[in-house]
Amino acid sequence: MGIIDHTKSFAPSPTDVGGKRNLVGLSVEELTEALTSLGLETFRVKQVWSWIYFHGATDFAAMTTLAKPVRDQLAEHFTVARPTVTQDQKSEDGTRKWLVRMSDGQEVECVHIPETDRGALCVSSQVGCTLTCRFCHTGTQRLVRNLEASEIVMQVMLARDALNEWPSTKDDRKLSNIVMMGMGEPLFNLDNVAKALRIVMHGEGIAIGKRRITLSTAGVAPMIKRCGEELDVNLAVSLHAVTDELRDQIVPINRRYPIKELLQACRDYPGLTNARRITFEYVMLKGVNDSPADAKQLVRLLRGIPSKINLIPFNPWPGAPFDCSDDDTIQKFGDIVNAAGYPSPVRTPRGRDIMAACGQLKSSSVRLSAAERLAIDKIIAEKEKAQGLDTKVPL
Ligand code: SAH
Repeated sequence: MGIIDHTKSFAPSPTDVGGKRNLVGLSVEELTEALTSLGLETFRVKQVWSWIYFHGATDFAAMTTLAKPVRDQLAEHFTVARPTVTQDQKSEDGTRKWLVRMSDGQEVECVHIPETDRGALCVSSQVGCTLTCRFCHTGTQRLVRNLEASEIVMQVMLARDALNEWPSTKDDRKLSNIVMMGMGEPLFNLDNVAKALRIVMHGEGIAIGKRRITLSTAGVAPMIKRCGEELDVNLAVSLHAVTDELRDQIVPINRRYPIKELLQACRDYPGLTNARRITFEYVMLKGVNDSPADAKQLVRLLRGIPSKINLIPFNPWPGAPFDCSDDDTIQKFGDIVNAAGYPSPVRTPRGRDIMAACGQLKSSSVRLSAAERLAIDKIIAEKEKAQGLDTKVPL
């Protein structure tokens, strides 16, 4: 019996190189299938997994525990190569932003935010975004497509390469946490995000645990439960307004899932305790959502939900229709929320000088023809319909 042609068992991925399947981003099951299709024994899966995700190997030649003929055989059929980094910018505060180009030419940004003894990587889930939140730069860019699991995992791999943090056990990791807070709405691409995060969490590889991963959503209420049940990661919710009237305007997905429904989904999030709270993000927009009355209403809304409120000074971008609230307004707002028993730290803006702060991400590379856009819109609409979601919120 001949060997099965592995190239037929997977749909092509934008991280493949020269027609060779990229093994990065395959689940354990898929990797097993890929390797056994070449006639390799199953114990090889563990070895290859470890070379890819624990040691960060970028070619098969580095996989020295495998016999040379096995390495050659793998290299003939597969790749573990990274996508191209087309820009690598460093902020004066140490924040670093990479622009990553996939093989179809689409680009996404990811950002590393270092702290003294740790650091978070802000990862993108989509190219562009459908949400059109009024204060967000990414929202002014049309959604081009969902990222594949491999493209999400690659952001982590590339950051580890750049920070020189292989193998995974290295002490004092500067990439210790992951926040799904880059471009896109992760709950509109949950299948791929979940697959990618399961790879990232795997103990014999990258090994970043679920308590060090936070997924941020603008409020796709019906998907929140799945996120909790399947991934059990920390949840952040971009609330930003305390009345439906205002939230309808600045976070338009609120028209589909209003505050009450969103907060019910939060209340039901599995495993909440005071030691494990939902983070509510609240962007401070001068004269729009920053009054003491807003703060009091926020406290009323969150009653009974173990919460932490992250106050985010608005990060400006060219042509943005808002200003950031004054420092003392933010302080007063925070005091009211804090006095009600909710931690309310003010997020220090990081990487503003390289447009890497919250809401500033936007790759200018997205220039598709009208026909290409139409075709992509159709694919996305079908995918979302299949998930029971319609993201075309009427404006
Ligand atoms: N779509 C998800 C993931 C993006 S996370 C979500 O909405 O949660 C990015 C965070 O930055 C969100 O809380 C978003 O509302 C916030 N943000 C967007 N634009 C911003 C800006 N200009 N200034 C500060 N925060 C902003």
